[in-house]
Amino acid sequence: MFIVVDGIDGSGKSTLARELKTELEVTHSVFLTGEPTSYSIWGQRLRRSAVEGRLPIAQELEYFRIDRAWHLDHHIKPALSAGDVVISDRYVDSTLAFQAKDADDAEALYRSMINEILIPDITFIINCSVDVAIQRIKKRDRGKFSQYENRDTLVKAALIYSARQGPHYVHLDGSRSSKEVMTQASKRLAAQMQYY
Ligand code: ADP
Repeated sequence: MFIVVDGIDGSGKSTLARELKTELEVTHSVFLTGEPTSYSIWGQRLRRSAVEGRLPIAQELEYFRIDRAWHLDHHIKPALSAGDVVISDRYVDSTLAFQAKDADDAEALYRSMINEILIPDITFIINCSVDVAIQRIKKRDRGKFSQYENRDTLVKAALIYSARQGPHYVHLDGSRSSKEVMTQASKRLAAQMQYY
């Protein structure tokens, strides 16, 4: 099973991904991963750009696509073939949220990438107000913000995330406590896993 957790910075992705791993590990072998990867040179370059300064959008998009293809071939698909549950902290919807202009552009971009990705069994989108997310980032990172963590970027990303629709999307209310977010996710996952 391939599970993705996505949403704006500070929405609680890493927290949920870790908690899902802990819960699923009782019965399954779990591979927790994320994007951009820290394994490929493209992922490393993208991670650096979040600190040093963003690249031109076309270049970011190209690097994300190459890094994702690399991630799928070298980590996600082999782990799934070995029977692991894979949890990715960020995946294709992050590219849509940060590299597309708006929700329509995001859907067009998604259609252009559909043949090069593996569609997750379930994508949890954590929706959260930008104000709440900024407060959490401030507290977590002691006032240090990455190049992606500015209000305008987060507002656009939040709008794109909240508009994503499709059979594998599950929207969660990230303004709730992390315990409540986990309960919502866990219920949906249990229902989905009955089919596996
Ligand atoms: P992300 O991975 O989306 O950037 P994190 O999981 O790192 O977000 O969460 C950001 C901060 O907010 C962390 O300090 C985390 O402990 C806290 N946090 C996460 N989820 C919640 C929640 N639902 N309510 C309150 N605080 C949360």
